[in-house]
Amino acid sequence: MRFLSGIQPSGNITLGNYIGAIRNFVKLQDNKDFTDFLVFVADMHAITVPQDKTKLRANIRSLVALYLACGLDPKKVHIFIQSEVHEHAELAWVLECNGYIGELERMTQFKDKKAKQTEGVSVGLLTYPSLMAADILLYDADVVPVGQDQKQHLELTRNLAERFNNKYGETFIIPEPFISKDGAKIMSLQDPTKKMSKSDPNPKGYVALLDDINVIKNKIKSAVTDSEGTIRYDVENKPGVSNLLTILSVIKGKDIKTLEKEYEGKNYQAFKEDVIEAVISEIKPIQDRYNELINSKELDQVLDEGRDYASFLARKKLTKVYNKVGLGRKR
Ligand code: AMP
Repeated sequence: MRFLSGIQPSGNITLGNYIGAIRNFVKLQDNKDFTDFLVFVADMHAITVPQDKTKLRANIRSLVALYLACGLDPKKVHIFIQSEVHEHAELAWVLECNGYIGELERMTQFKDKKAKQTEGVSVGLLTYPSLMAADILLYDADVVPVGQDQKQHLELTRNLAERFNNKYGETFIIPEPFISKDGAKIMSLQDPTKKMSKSDPNPKGYVALLDDINVIKNKIKSAVTDSEGTIRYDVENKPGVSNLLTILSVIKGKDIKTLEKEYEGKNYQAFKEDVIEAVISEIKPIQDRYNELINSKELDQVLDEGRDYASFLARKKLTKVYNKVGLGRKR
C-alpha cells in the first residue's frame, strides 16, 4: 500500500500540525502495511493566496528540515517538493477538464477562504481541490490521511477518479481516507473552541515548533482556562483545560482518565507547569536537530532523491493518462 501526505509551507508549523499530522507520519513510517511512503511540501497550494517569494522559499526548506527533525527517516520516506515534479500541474489540468465548476464552488473550504479574501479571489483558490486530486491520483496512493477539513476534497478526488475511470477505462486507484486513531485535534490556546492554526492572527493562540523556548512557556502559561479550578476533561464546559489535557495525554502517552486522577486536587498553575515541561521536552530536541539540518547538504540530498523517485512514478502515470485522453503522440 502506498501512503501519501503533504503539508503547505505557509510558515509557523504548529504543535497542532505536529500532533495531528507529522507525529503520526513518524509512527506510520514503520508500519509494514505501507510499502511506499511519500511525504511532500505542497508549495503550489500555498500560492493560491498571495505569498512573499523570499518567505515562501524559506518556509519550503524549513518544513523539510522540520519533517526530518521530527523523525521522518529518508531511508523509509521519500520527501519531495510538489513544484519540482511538474506532472502535478499537468494532471491537475486534465482533471479540471473533467470536473465541473459547480462541484468546486460547493467546497466549503473555498467558500470560507473566499469570504476571508479581501483582494480578489484567485482561480487557484477555486481549482485547488483538482490539484489536490492530482497530487493523490498521480501516485496511485491507497491511503491518504485527512483531517476533517480535507474530507470533502478527498471525496471529490474519489469522484474525479471514478469519473475518469468510467470515461477512459481503469486508470486511477480510488484512494481511501485514513483517519488516524491518534489524530487528536489541538485547539487554540486563546480560543479553545477553534482549531490551533498557523494562520491565527494572534500568535498567542498557537505554539509554533520553532518558537523560542521562553515564548512557548509564556504562551502555555497564558492559555485560557476557566474559573472552576478542577482538572477534568469536559470539552463543552472546559474547552481550555480539555485541550491542555489532550496535549499532555498525547505527549506523555497517558490516557486522559489517568491524567485526571493524577491531577485531582492540584491547581491550574501546577498543571500548566507540567504541560510546559512536556511540550518543551518534546520540542527542544526537534529544534536542535532542525538547526543542524536547515543549511545542510543532507537536506538537499534528501530532496533530490525524493524528487527523482516521485518524478519516476508521476511520469509513468501521466503518460498513461495522456495516452487515454489522446494528448500528444503515442508514447
Ligand atoms: P494545515 O496546517 O491546515 O495545512 O494542516 C496540515 C496538517 O496538519 C493536516 O493534516 C491537518 O489536519 C493537521 N492539523 C493542522 N492543524 C491542526 C490542529 N490544530 N490539530 C490537529 N491537527 C492539525
